[in-house]
Amino acid sequence: MSTPPPIPPSGPYAAPYPTYGAPGPAPAPVCEVCGAAPAAAVTIRAHQGMIVLMRSMRRQGVHCRPCGTAFFREMQADTMLQGWWGLLSAFITPLFLLLNLGARATLRALPEPTTWGWRPPLDPGKPVAKRPAGVIALIPLVALALAFTAFAVLMVIGLAAGGDDTPKPLTAGSCVRNQGSWTDQDLQPVPCDSPLAAYRVKDPGTDECPAGAYLADLKYSEDGTTNLCLVPLSRR
Ligand SMILES: [Zn+2]
Repeated sequence: MSTPPPIPPSGPYAAPYPTYGAPGPAPAPVCEVCGAAPAAAVTIRAHQGMIVLMRSMRRQGVHCRPCGTAFFREMQADTMLQGWWGLLSAFITPLFLLLNLGARATLRALPEPTTWGWRPPLDPGKPVAKRPAGVIALIPLVALALAFTAFAVLMVIGLAAGGDDTPKPLTAGSCVRNQGSWTDQDLQPVPCDSPLAAYRVKDPGTDECPAGAYLADLKYSEDGTTNLCLVPLSRR
């Protein structure tokens, strides 16, 4: 007891400014379910697909870690079981599951409650992966992952195959067929003895194309400026 405790300020000038809340530190938020702190604002979603109909639920609030985790686990597991049943629902469900993981990250960043409120926090229950829903949901999740992988692979193959769409120049005397229209030609070279061959390519030089012949798009000529004629092959 060598140093006396500081004398608290008193009198009308003890508090220099009235305290209106701001700019002092804001009161720490408490869990709206149990009153415990610390707590954080999170939004947890659930989705129910019903073939044609569907229903989305959202729980937005300030929760302590155990209460928020309880809501997350329940709504995540419900969505994993009930979310998939509809065409649109099959897309909404994985989105909601992902968004909920964001909420879970917020909850995980919270320490366990240090001050308690008016009731004990909710029981978080078993982790989602240890519930039946977590196991059953693996089927649609794996199917979805496979579908995405297949889609990505097809895209890569498609890009690799169709990346270069400048047509090969046609050579006079070769044969082609047109898989597009005459205004949007898609000329494919084919062997002249193939039943698919429809036109013989002719370089008219300085002359006009023969009667009944079509003009190939300029993009099919070697230099991009020469008009090539497409003479219909006579069928026997
Ligand atoms: Zn709570």
